Amino acid sequence: MGTWWRAVRAVWTFPRTTRAGAWELAQSAARGAAERTFAREFGEPIADRRCLVCATDDVALDGWVATADGVVCPQCGRAVLADGLAYGHISAAYRGRAGSPRRAFGEVYQTIVAFKERRGDWLSLAGPLARALARSVDQIRPDDAAGPPTRPRLLVPVPSYRGRRPHMRMLTALAAVRLPHVATRLALLEKRRDFTQKGLAHDDRRAENVGAYAIRRRWRAAIRGRHIIVADDLVTTGTTLDACARVLLAAGAATVDGAAIVRAVRAPPERMLPLGARQVRIQLRELDSRARTPITAEPGTLWVQFGCSGRCPVTAVAGPYPLPTLDVVGYHRWICRCGASHIVRARREWRADVRDCVAVGVGDRRPPELLVGILQGPATFAASP
Ligand SMILES: [Zn+2]
Ligand SMILES: [Zn+2]
Repeated sequence: MGTWWRAVRAVWTFPRTTRAGAWELAQSAARGAAERTFAREFGEPIADRRCLVCATDDVALDGWVATADGVVCPQCGRAVLADGLAYGHISAAYRGRAGSPRRAFGEVYQTIVAFKERRGDWLSLAGPLARALARSVDQIRPDDAAGPPTRPRLLVPVPSYRGRRPHMRMLTALAAVRLPHVATRLALLEKRRDFTQKGLAHDDRRAENVGAYAIRRRWRAAIRGRHIIVADDLVTTGTTLDACARVLLAAGAATVDGAAIVRAVRAPPERMLPLGARQVRIQLRELDSRARTPITAEPGTLWVQFGCSGRCPVTAVAGPYPLPTLDVVGYHRWICRCGASHIVRARREWRADVRDCVAVGVGDRRPPELLVGILQGPATFAASP
């Protein structure tokens, strides 16, 4: 199917009054416009050290395992050991954590919500969102074990109940203009029950999803033996994708992968961290876009959590280190059991806008790849034996 026809079909998924604007978007997609300039401004790209299966790059998780190709997160590891995962891989263009001080999650996520709910100048958001989705689809490589696809893979949007929220249909059709090597089936899946997953625990989400999705009758024969990519806006636990994948596999699909715009990770946890002979309960925090976090003027203790490398499953908890005094940089070496050596830098700063803060770095990691634990007040590093 030619690019021109894909562009026409994409326009057709948009509401009638917006089709002139959608045609502009589809035309610029057909020209491959603005593919590169966009990636940095919109949100945080997923870190290179991410789960091979579900694309999470959450360094708050412990218990990663190493495989020949990279690392797998503990959630996917557990799922594979339990009853297996229905889907093969999830890819995503951006990452985000709710409540992040960098507001990165907000940017991409709020853009998705504004588009979904058609707020403000929502049509102009379709271009960047569809580009992100297309990039995510492009990241999915055929699974060698399943054999090379003999026919184009099918790209299928996660459906909304009775088509009431057709945003993924629009974005998938628009993304497909840039994806000549996949075939798009916009109406293959349907959602038979309406529910919201907000606030549900993982197991409840899974229960809600059972039987919620179905394959439309006219497409049932067409998916036998096909490699399918399910497109969604936001992946949090992967339960929606799991439910869609189970339906597709039961109907004879060869493999199912997922492509999302955003891979969400959860709020940083509390951890028990070593301090001398005892353990202290500390809330881990994220750093802002300049790798800083606010502190008080007192002395204190610092821990840093980060992933060792893309090949090593260790999530390091380096520390405890004393919080340095003003404008002194503390350097600490942390050696992983794999032999890799990491230098942890910490520097106390005072700035008119943020008052006291500490800037933390490990090698060339970006702020989303680090979490810090800080203890100040009576039980500080300096006061402990
Ligand atoms: Zn995973
Ligand atoms: Zn290591």
